[in-house]
Amino acid sequence: MNGTLYLVATPIGNLGDISARALETLRSVDLIAAEDTRNTVRLLNHFEIRKPLTSYHEYNKYDKAEVLIGHLRRGENIACVSDAGTPAISDPGEVLAARCIEEGIRVTSIPGACALITALTMSGMPARRFCFEGFLPSDKKEHKRILSQLVREERTIILYEAPHRLKTTLEELRDTLGGSRRITLCRELTKRYEEAIPLTLDSALSYYEENEPRGEYVLILAGADPAALAEQDHRSWDTVPLEEHMEIYLSKGMTRKEAMKKVAADRGLSRRDIYRALLQEENG
Ligand code: SAM
Repeated sequence: MNGTLYLVATPIGNLGDISARALETLRSVDLIAAEDTRNTVRLLNHFEIRKPLTSYHEYNKYDKAEVLIGHLRRGENIACVSDAGTPAISDPGEVLAARCIEEGIRVTSIPGACALITALTMSGMPARRFCFEGFLPSDKKEHKRILSQLVREERTIILYEAPHRLKTTLEELRDTLGGSRRITLCRELTKRYEEAIPLTLDSALSYYEENEPRGEYVLILAGADPAALAEQDHRSWDTVPLEEHMEIYLSKGMTRKEAMKKVAADRGLSRRDIYRALLQEENG
């Protein structure tokens, strides 16, 4: 019978956040696959757990997943732990979990600390609907594509960022979303110098002109204001003459009345406004 893959959440700073089930699981498995074995050794030593460890990280995640699947097929149980937090969230645990599912191997998760959830809940930003982007992609084209998608994102946006890239990312976000967009910068979560600083993108950039970014960051950004987005959409028609705008719909076979309704909706005006404006244009 196949073994089970346990995705075991570990603390993101404060060792007190390890759960009883996480410890029990780490004590019971045959092998622990760790993203950073030095970190995990420290954790295991602290809790006096002696278990065989193997490294499973970004640079061996595909090949090593196959090796680990071999162990699971022989009936061994494996715990996967990431550098910190919940495995599979912006770390190689995702690849291993997916491969196990493909192979029909049981995967279970031992929940615990997760940086994005910790940051979101303490930010005071709307948490009913949110999107998590992880780290922005390093591929330039993909990076640009994701940033441009964020312009219309109405849900709270969560990003991970390393200190050496923070300023560049803040600049890009300011250029894409505007300087007045609210952002909470969370760092050192669950640690002694934990911070969650509510700013705007403009003030965040000024702040980091004076203060060097330190530690790992979770960025919580307010989503786009739907009313502002609608207004922007309406204003984008301002440069198109009304008759030309009408023609877009008339050429699709719509009646004049139907086209007027569409044009009114596009411009955020009433049909009567459009009717009057068209009359005025006709009468010169
Ligand atoms: N799997 C992890 C989780 O549960 O969130 C995340 C792994 S990802 C490779 C590491 C990123 O998580 C860091 O670059 C940072 O953005 C965020 N992070 C982890 N621990 C943190 C902490 N104590 N404070 C702030 N951000 C943290």
